Amino acid sequence: MTATRVLVLNSGSSSVKYQLLDMRDSSRLAVGLVERIGEETSRLKHTPLTGGDEREREEPIADHEAALKAVSAELTADGLGLDSPELAAIGHRVVHGGLKFTAPTVITDEVLAEIQRLVPVAPLHNPANITGIRTAQALRPDLPQVAVFDTAFHTTMPESAARYAIDVATADQHRVRRYGFHGTSHAYVSRETAKLLGKEPQDVNVIVLHLGNGASASAVRGGRCVETSMGLTPLEGLVMGTRSGDVDPAVVFHLARVGGMSIDEVDTLLNKKSGLVGLCGDNDMREIRRRIDGGDEAAALAFDIYIHRLKKYIGAYYAVLGRVDAIAFTAGVGENAAPVREAAVAGLEELGLAVDGELNAVRSDEARLISPEYARVAVAVVPTDEELEIARQTYALVAPVGTPS
Ligand code: AMP
Repeated sequence: MTATRVLVLNSGSSSVKYQLLDMRDSSRLAVGLVERIGEETSRLKHTPLTGGDEREREEPIADHEAALKAVSAELTADGLGLDSPELAAIGHRVVHGGLKFTAPTVITDEVLAEIQRLVPVAPLHNPANITGIRTAQALRPDLPQVAVFDTAFHTTMPESAARYAIDVATADQHRVRRYGFHGTSHAYVSRETAKLLGKEPQDVNVIVLHLGNGASASAVRGGRCVETSMGLTPLEGLVMGTRSGDVDPAVVFHLARVGGMSIDEVDTLLNKKSGLVGLCGDNDMREIRRRIDGGDEAAALAFDIYIHRLKKYIGAYYAVLGRVDAIAFTAGVGENAAPVREAAVAGLEELGLAVDGELNAVRSDEARLISPEYARVAVAVVPTDEELEIARQTYALVAPVGTPS
């Protein structure tokens, strides 16, 4: 029997998201989520997609090992257990791969040690990813485990885009440079956008706007990333749900020296209490739009600041690429918030950019064009699918030669 299933694991500090896919047709067999690991009120939500109802359990789940065992038990109850010979590999989302990991990688002791070495530049994410990998290895030591890095797609950025203009020796000593994140999504969406245009990825230039709770833009020339908005950490760039995006770095000195804040307090301020939530108290675009419709000025200003930043990046990436074939909106806001898409390209007709009101208002899970026929640059909505992309990349590494993926 050929093993064709891939389990995708996205391990956070207190959560594990998972999907089991069958790579013969990229179908999902089960999806689920364990939340609040380590708390009394842990919750496991499991949805079998081969028949049967969604199941939810609320009980203390002490750690990642217990979480993965609980997931394994749910999958076993559906006849999809982790001990199945049909399971080909486990694909792990790993946030930071530094400069070394430019592609998905089968995890060895050395690979794990390198992911560990990157913890200082990804202190929130890599430790959780490592825990997820170790736990999965303990459950199925015989099975290939593959790391798919959020940073990998951006490693093609030229040095002119990847370096900050700071002292080179200091930057190199501390590995300070622009790495970029959401790479799996930018890779998937830029490729799907080319497909939507009926072209090969190497023949199109795309600006991808991944607008979720975290948000980033990328400029993709002929299938290769040449610029992205997140930097050393996911804090740089666009206005996000709770992150500020770009600020003058001197804001940090000012808040420390004049405001008396500690570095950790400024870190929390810029990562968790800024962006849309800092500006108006809400980070959900649906709620912000509701408040704007009700005449709320703080919500309207937050929206305007969000759009202004987005527009600056569209203009900047247009200039970086020189020729743009398409702009693709993706993730929670990008896929669902028609007013954001409309406002982001409003007034950019001279750049060949426009949105058709009727097409933009359509709600759909499919990739689609929302620009009028006459527009020089296609504007697209392309739902992202990071789990499918991780599963594909994982399977491509472990499948027997000649197996279609
Ligand atoms: P993500 O991080 O990609 O899951 O995106 C989550 C964000 O998408 C939420 O915080 C909302 O701001 C936004 N979102 C989700 N659904 C909608 C919707 N129907 N309309 C507008 N925004 C939405």
